[in-house]
Order: sequence, then C-alpha cells, then structure tokens
Amino acid sequence: LVEIAGVHKSYGPREVLHGITLTVEPGQVVALLGPSGSGKSTLLRAINHLETIDRGEITIDGEFIGYEQRGDRLYELPEKEVLTRRTRVGMVFQNFNLFPHLTALENIIEAPVGLKRASRAEATARARELLERVGLADHAEHYPRQLSGGQQQRVAIARALALDPAVLLFDEPTSALDPELVGEVLSVIRDLAHSGTTLIIVTHEIGFASEVADHVVFLDAGRVVEQGSPEQVLRAPEQARTQEFLDWVI
Ligand code: ATP
Ligand code: MG
Repeated sequence: LVEIAGVHKSYGPREVLHGITLTVEPGQVVALLGPSGSGKSTLLRAINHLETIDRGEITIDGEFIGYEQRGDRLYELPEKEVLTRRTRVGMVFQNFNLFPHLTALENIIEAPVGLKRASRAEATARARELLERVGLADHAEHYPRQLSGGQQQRVAIARALALDPAVLLFDEPTSALDPELVGEVLSVIRDLAHSGTTLIIVTHEIGFASEVADHVVFLDAGRVVEQGSPEQVLRAPEQARTQEFLDWVI
C-alpha cells in the first residue's frame, strides 16, 4: 500500500534521511520509533508530500502524490491535483492542529465539503458518525478551546477519517497530552487498529506500540536501524542502538 524506496532528504546541506526503504501492507499497523531528530516526522511528512524528497520514491497504491510518471520521467503535479491525491493519506499531528474558529463538526466536514466530495448534509451525517466513533457525539458544537487536549485529538482523528484515507499517519499523537488524557486517545487508535485501518504511528509509548503494532521500525539518524515484529524489535533487539533507545525511553 505504502512503498517507500531509497528515500533521501536534505535540509540545505544536511541530509536527514539517508535512504529509507519501507513497505506498509494494507491493514498493517506500523510503529515508527526513534530518538529525537532521527527523521520520523520528516518521513511521515514526506509520505503525504508535505515535504519533497531529493531521491527515491514514495507511492500510495502505486501512485505518487506530488508527481506523475510519463515514460521514465517524473513531472510535478499542479497543486490542485496534489491536494486531491493527498486525501489518500490522513494525518494526525502532535498538537491537534484543529481550526480554532470552527466547531468540532465544522472541522470534520471542512475537507469533504471544501473538496466537493460530499454535500453539506452528507458530510454532516458522516461527521456525526465519526464523532460517535471517537466518543464525542455530544461535543459536535464545541469549539476546540472548549475541549480538552484528549478531546481535541479525538476530533482531529475523526477529521482525518472523514476523507476515508487509505492510510492514517500519527505523529506522536499523545505526547502533548496530560498523562490522564493519553488513554482515551490510545483507545481510539487501538479501535482503528483492530478495525483493519492501515496505520503508521510515531510514538514513544512502547507498551502501546508493542500491543497494537504488527511491525516496528526503529529509525536512528535518518536510517532504518532495525525492523521486525514487536517481539523481535522491542523484546530482543539485535542492534545496540535499539537497545539503548529502549532503555532510555522505558
Ligand atoms: P522528534 O522526536 O524530536 O520529533 P524527529 O525524529 O521527528 O524528532 P525530524 O523532525 O524529522 O526528527 O527531524 C530530523 C532532522 O531534520 C533534525 O535534525 C531536524 O533538526 C531537521 N529538520 C527538521 N525539519 C527541518 C526544517 N524544516 N528545516 C531544517 N531542518 C529540519
Ligand atoms: Mg518529530
């Protein structure tokens, strides 16, 4: 579903991704772990073309988000087409990133209505279902400032689901939350994992990763150092770097 092959990315003169290769199968839950600065966010952002890459390829169901292949050359797509293709990938950020001037419901229908995917009535009905699914059916008319961090993040998840993405990316979805609010967000993500949604989750919640992930990838300094099942990578890592990271984070 998601094919990442030989991806290199630099910021100015500094290369921060040194040839990342990774495949995510439909329905798979992948946990992406690694120390600060290892390139986790950069990689996630590259998957939905919020960052361009310098070398390599990233495709979703065989399709580029930012490019089109004609013959053996890649051509940059116009912004409008990029926005349409990007809807295949949902993203949930650390800081929720809800529109502050829109209610929970309006946040969720903004993209489907804006992209003319659905009528306002259809989008609203779907948004209410999604709010129900994340346990916020009675908060539809609340503005972000009237919601707790955990509730805001659950609205952000509902918003990301509104366009029926093929894959959902989470960038440290609980690390901005007070500890007592972490559980409610993890519980929503756990339900998604069990319902067969394809997920890539950057997290420092090792216990959670080991519980829900099918595949764990450890990234260090822009390279995949180790990957495999949670049992392998989290319980019996082969690489010293992985073990050091686990000792530090647990
Ligand atoms: P963290 O756990 O702290 O979120 P991360 O693994 O997500 O870290 P990235 O944010 O992907 O790491 O950053 C990888 C490297 O790229 C870091 O060295 C960072 O300083 C650098 N970097 C990230 N974004 C930019 C940018 N917009 N301009 C320049 N350098 C950047
Ligand atoms: Mg990051």
